[in-house]
Amino acid sequence: METPTARVEVAPRPLVGLDLGELLALVRAAGEPPYRARQLYRGLYRDHAGRVSEISTLPLALRNGLLRDCGSGLPEVRQRHTSADGTVRYLVGLQDGRTVECVFIPERARDTLCISSQAGCAVDCRFCLTALMGLERNLTAGEIVGQVLAIAGDRDLKPRRRPVNVVMMGMGEPLLNLGPVMKATRLLADPAAVGIPQRRITVSTSGIVPKIAEFGASAVRGKLAISLNASSQGQRAEIMPISSKYPLDALLEVCRSYPLRRWERLTFEYVLLKGVNDSDTDARRVAGLLAGFKCKVNLIALNPGAGIEFGIPSDDRVNAFRSIVHRRVPCFVRKPRGRDIFAACGQLRRTASPPLVHPDPSEGQNL
Ligand code: SF4
Repeated sequence: METPTARVEVAPRPLVGLDLGELLALVRAAGEPPYRARQLYRGLYRDHAGRVSEISTLPLALRNGLLRDCGSGLPEVRQRHTSADGTVRYLVGLQDGRTVECVFIPERARDTLCISSQAGCAVDCRFCLTALMGLERNLTAGEIVGQVLAIAGDRDLKPRRRPVNVVMMGMGEPLLNLGPVMKATRLLADPAAVGIPQRRITVSTSGIVPKIAEFGASAVRGKLAISLNASSQGQRAEIMPISSKYPLDALLEVCRSYPLRRWERLTFEYVLLKGVNDSDTDARRVAGLLAGFKCKVNLIALNPGAGIEFGIPSDDRVNAFRSIVHRRVPCFVRKPRGRDIFAACGQLRRTASPPLVHPDPSEGQNL
């Protein structure tokens, strides 16, 4: 019969999201030897995707005691919506009852997980469905890394055997929740934890200028993507009000001095809105703004949704824009994934009943 473990005498915090030092304090407080912390760390992040009860290297009484006193904190998969292209949009539940969305995107050579850094978003980009929710709250590091663990557990992903990319492009502005984002990144990137290399992690920002330098100063960090979306300050301020606070020239200036690592380049994302920012003149201006940067440009034709007032540019317009930019800066068209289930870029808004074929804005429902 298992003997009951001593109660943990530290403030109870969910296990998922704690780093090795914090786990060490926890197992010491429970009267256990320090090596249990490493077993717990590996079990949580590397071997069992946050499922504490399955960490068989730990005595059952310790597992039960930790779960009783701290809780696992692993987000719970509540809903899955599967696209015709194999993309899956997940709704996951957090401990306080809130929910966020994250997306699994299968590709031939790897899988990509798009995760959220906040519940909702305060930034108010005009082309984004998440913006319509407003900000509910920041996520903790455990809730950020927990989305990766929840999807990995659900799909039996093994990042050490088949490459997994993580992009923080779901709900929220990661640089407005920088501390938890950086801690989650360290847990994701640590080979003894989740083990996803830094070069496979991307953090996307709408351009929070003062935080970009802080992000770049971190020893462990993902790659940086900048959501550009306009060819002039006036145009950008119209579709991204944040640009009034952090103007385009200040954004480009901080990007110019960004400390890229040897293997790294910046990504500029550009959502094309029909008749707004998709002309040949816009393309020439974008090329002019970004010439000289070590970067690439990803073009995304608008992903529609109820409440978004812009139109989708034609494929010909997208390709013409790409050709012009590509003369001076590497430029690619990103194929939308999961548009039919509201899983594509800018579409995360907990839409409950996705249409089966093509998204018709009038059909969207919210929980
Ligand atoms: S695009 Fe990103 S930063 Fe802008 S409102 Fe949507 S979630 Fe927020």
